[in-house]
Amino acid sequence: MRIVTVIGNRPQFVKAAAVSGPLRAEHEELLVHTGQHYDDELSAIFVRELEMPGPDVELQLGGGTNTAQTARMLAALGDLLGDERPDAVLVYGDTNSTLAGALAAAQARIPVAHVEAGMRSFDRAMPEELNRVVCDHVSDLLLVPSQGAADNLARESVAGDVRVVGDVMVDVARLLAPRARADDGPLRAAGVTAGDYVLATAHRAGTVDDPQRLARLVELLLGIGAPVVLPLHPRTRARLEAAGLLDRLRAGTTILPPLGYLAFTALLTRARAVLTDSGGVQKEAYLAGVPCVTLRDTTEWVETVQAGWNVLVDLDAQAARAALDRELPATRPELYGDGHAAGRVVAAMATLAR
Ligand code: UDP
Repeated sequence: MRIVTVIGNRPQFVKAAAVSGPLRAEHEELLVHTGQHYDDELSAIFVRELEMPGPDVELQLGGGTNTAQTARMLAALGDLLGDERPDAVLVYGDTNSTLAGALAAAQARIPVAHVEAGMRSFDRAMPEELNRVVCDHVSDLLLVPSQGAADNLARESVAGDVRVVGDVMVDVARLLAPRARADDGPLRAAGVTAGDYVLATAHRAGTVDDPQRLARLVELLLGIGAPVVLPLHPRTRARLEAAGLLDRLRAGTTILPPLGYLAFTALLTRARAVLTDSGGVQKEAYLAGVPCVTLRDTTEWVETVQAGWNVLVDLDAQAARAALDRELPATRPELYGDGHAAGRVVAAMATLAR
């Protein structure tokens, strides 16, 4: 089969890194990068580190509002799919690139496969939640990480074929976390000792775009009562600079540039806890057995909360400190598959052959 894969941001590079190799062993893949994330440290570094094929097409469509960006992507991908006429389109996750890829394919009557289908935070104020819902309803093949995600899709009566395959990010974490965990370099560079610091990330619109919420985030991080290491997403850096908060935050935390996967995973696997508004990072903390405190009031990765390893605190500083001091559960069941999801994704793609 000829498959066009659409990616555009950091976690999609990680997901494609799991799938592209096995996919290319059986099919022809054209990897299209929309340019949603165009900074080297959010995109190209993953190609180098994760030894994945680089994008075959780079559309450079980053910037602008969600609506404008999605519209530009939809137009460009419509043209590209019209020229290429692949047998299927493959999309990952919940970004504007996911939605544009899926919708452009559905409109061109090309079968769509969605990896990480069925995830729901049930918060329609999140741009990602809209992308998830719309993408799932235009997809022909819905590849889900957990039974909970399959149940969500059954409740919504989606038209496509739903298959529980596990999470492809688990494949990457299982492969690379042991190597990353053994590397002290990133801890030394950050000036921290294993088990003594918290690793923080924040970049969602709902956390950083409103100056009042941004100020609450800053106070939460400064008052957490442990050394904080914060690899700073460019969006968050820009918002902190605009609000005049960057220097205040820098005075009480260790701010780093966005890190490559291995350095980030080294810091994550050795942290006392993780504070994050990221989806992928909640899941990776769980896999590493590191307690997570999520800076949101909903999550699509509900199983990590139910298992007792993740607590939702929104931006409540007191709740965050309490969550940091909590007792941890004795067990950590396998929630998102066995690390062989990519093989199942590739096998399922064959069902879309015309
Ligand atoms: N990540 C990284 N460097 C960083 C922060 C995160 O490599 O400085 C990785 C992380 O390990 C995970 C992915 O990026 O695999 C998560 O991406 P992000 O938080 O941007 O997106 P989300 O998962 O929230 O959609």
